[in-house]
Formats: sequence, structure tokens, C-alpha cells
Amino acid sequence: MMSKPCGANNSVLIVGAGPVGLSLACLLADAGIPSRVLDVKPLAALADPAEDGREIALTQRSIAILQRLGAWQELAPEEKSPLRRARVFNGRQTASLLFEAGDAALGTLVSNDALRRVAHAGALRRSALIALQGEACVTAMALDGMAATVSLADGRRLQGPLLVAADSRFSTLRRLAGIPCELLDFGRSVQLARIAHQRPHQDQALECFHHGHTMAWLPLGSRSPCLSSLVLTLPADLAETLRGWEDSRWLDWVQTHAQDRLGNLRLAGPRHQYPLVASYARRFAALRFALVGDAAVGMHPVTAHGYNFGLYGAERLAEALRREGVAEPAAALERYADGHRRETRLIYQGTNAVVRLFTAEAMPARLLRRGVLDIAQHLPPLKQLITARLTERAGFIGAQPLKKPRSRSL
Ligand SMILES: Cc1cc2nc3c(=O)[nH]c(=O)nc-3n(C[C@H](O)[C@H](O)[C@H](O)COP(=O)(O)OP(=O)(O)OC[C@H]3O[C@@H](n4cnc5c(N)ncnc54)[C@H](O)[C@@H]3O)c2cc1C
Repeated sequence: MMSKPCGANNSVLIVGAGPVGLSLACLLADAGIPSRVLDVKPLAALADPAEDGREIALTQRSIAILQRLGAWQELAPEEKSPLRRARVFNGRQTASLLFEAGDAALGTLVSNDALRRVAHAGALRRSALIALQGEACVTAMALDGMAATVSLADGRRLQGPLLVAADSRFSTLRRLAGIPCELLDFGRSVQLARIAHQRPHQDQALECFHHGHTMAWLPLGSRSPCLSSLVLTLPADLAETLRGWEDSRWLDWVQTHAQDRLGNLRLAGPRHQYPLVASYARRFAALRFALVGDAAVGMHPVTAHGYNFGLYGAERLAEALRREGVAEPAAALERYADGHRRETRLIYQGTNAVVRLFTAEAMPARLLRRGVLDIAQHLPPLKQLITARLTERAGFIGAQPLKKPRSRSL
């Protein structure tokens, strides 16, 4: 027999207590809207998330949102590493393309587990309006004109005026809602690890496109001038081979391919691996239902937009619901879906095109790649545009003028 739905019926149901689901709950609470956040993970794992190797490059706009939520203030100084410059190398060439933003930083690097931790703390601070539930696996859902209902694996059912899926790029709820999603498997995996190195990074990121793989170094300057996060992108089969190697053999491989840019290397943390799959949902909203975070747009990490987009989307949805109310959310959902699509679609497609260009190994692509870097090097407006996207001041891009960044090449 089916159980009777329970829960405060005016609470928005959010499935997924990742950094985006929790931030949305906080934004809603600050607009006076109650929510119930459900996640399969136990509460203890949500409160103290395990290190997952991801260092998130935050834009100025994301930092401004985190400041408003009080989450930025919760991060310790050693958790915020400035990213002052980014240098892009093509193959073994020593010439590079340099991005910088004058006195300002291009962005700030914060680990994903720290972002999850402060988002969780923010939800606890707002416990009058946020009910957080761990070990809650959503297995079914129903949407109609009156309410949204979810069923949990333990048989319970919960109801609310709106259901929001923040349950990752492989979203179960998106599938249950029958929303098609474009999934783009790059056939590559990314390996991440913290590496201590001999020469200081000077708060500079390095992105090196090599034959068959890409090596990026993200400076963790708030921890040490000689510590970086290595982001190694490899064809999936090579990644599997390297994953099987013990640390010393793997580090030898990295040292050989790092071209001595940072001197001697030492592994300073566990190694992690993720498959590279981008995703874009056909629709971001349906009757009493919305997709946010990676469930809506799952970006390739190369342009560092995934979490930033998730936060912008959460802010947009919370603002629309504040204006229109949650009881009849159709207009708010339409406003959110249109705006989020306009903001993300071109960059999603552009990022995928760049990834294809910079991972293709055929000779025409390699020549084109060199041509693109040469053009960008000698065309200051193009570099300024890219830098502006990286720094991205508060306010929607295009709607407000950006502070003009300084850009020069060496
Ligand atoms: C290597 C790498 C580097 C990255 N670098 C950057 C960067 O520099 N800048 C940037 O902006 N972004 C970056 N990203 C992207 C960023 O990590 C993601 O966009 C972000 O973590 C998405 O957050 P989310 O809350 O949407 O989803 P997730 O973090 O995936 O959280 C989803 C949550 O939903 C829960 N869940 C799933 N299914 C269910 C279910 N059925 N029932 C209940 N709960 C469920 C999960 O337990 C999980 O807690 C990077 C990603 C990777 C892989």
C-alpha cells in the first residue's frame, strides 16, 4: 500500500546536497522560502566532505554570491589561493600565451570539499528554513498541477510545491522526468593530484597541450608557494594504465612530461580520476520541476565554469521564485530556464569546440591549434575578452560593463 506523503507542504524539495543544491537552499532561505534537501550520503559525510582532488576556480561573481551567503567568510585564508596569471603552451614550444588581469586576480582557487563544507554550514545556520536529510535516495517522482512528490528507497513519500534536481550530471531525476539530455563523452579521463615542486609557481597556472595529453598546473599559493594541483587529461585507455601504476612510477611519468617547468616534483596527496563527460539538458524546467547545477549543465572542466554556472543558476532561480512565489511556480521556472540557457549555451558549445581542437591529434588540428594561439597572442581584444570571461565581475555578463582587464604577452 502506498504511504501518505509527509513533510511541510510549502517547502521546496531539493534533491542533491552538493555545493549547488545546498547553495540554492540557502538563497531560498534568505528569500524567506523554506526547503527540504535530500541526499543519498549520510549527514556526517555532508558535514565533513572527503577531499576529492578538485580545485574550483571561482569567478569574482561567484565570490560575490558566496559573500552574500556568508560562505566566503567561513573559508580559512589558507583555503583561498589567488590565481594571478595563466600561461598556455602548445606542445613543446617555449613561447606561451599569457592571461592576466592587472592588479586583480583572474580568480581564486578553492577546493571542492571546502565549498561543500561551507555550503553545508550555511544550511545549518538557516535550519529554521532548511531541513536537511541524509541517506535519502530518491527512486521515483510524480509531478502534477497540484504538487511534486518524491518516493524514497525506504518507502517514504514527500510532497512540495516544487521539486529541484541538483543530483549531478548523471541526474536520476532528469531521467525520471523524461527530459532528454545531450551527453558528450570525450573518451578521456582526468587525473588530479597535489604536487609539491622545487620552483615557485608565483600564483600562475600553466596549461600545456602536449601530443596525446594535456597537463595543467593550478597554483595553491595560500598553502605553499611550491604546491600545485596537477590536472592531467589523458585518453581513457592510457588513464586506466597510469591509474594502475604505483605512485613512484606515476610520478616519474609526470616528471618526464612536465618539461622541467617547475623543477623536481613530489606527490603531496592522493590521486583521483574522473571520466570526462559533458552534459546539457534539453529543458531546464517542467511542471513544478527544475534542474540546477550539473544536472542542468555539466561542463568540461577546462574553462572552469561548472560550479560557477551552478551558482549563477541557483541565484537566478531563487530570485525568480522570490518575485513570483513558489505556490504557482510556472512563470518563475520559465524565467529561470530562459535566462540560464542564454547564459550557458554558447559557452558550453564553445568549450566543447576548444576541447576538440586541443585534443585532436591529426596534423590539420595541430596546425590550427598553433594558429589559434598565435592569433590570440597578437590580438589583444581577443585576449581581453577571454580574460574578462575568466574574471567575470558581479552582474550578468553583457548586462553590465566589465572592468577592462590589462593583458600583455611576453
Ligand atoms: C576535475 C574537475 C575539475 C573541476 N573544476 C572546476 C572549476 O575549476 N570551476 C568550476 O566552476 N567547476 C569545476 N568543476 C565542476 C564542479 O565540480 C561541478 O560543476 C559541481 O561540483 C557541481 O555541483 P552539483 O551540486 O551540481 O553536483 P554534485 O557535486 O555532483 O552533487 C550532487 C549530489 O546529489 C546527490 N545525489 C545524486 N543522486 C541522488 C539521488 N537519486 N537521491 C539523492 N541524492 C542524490 C549526490 O550524493 C551528491 O551529493 C570541476 C569538475 C571536475 C570533475
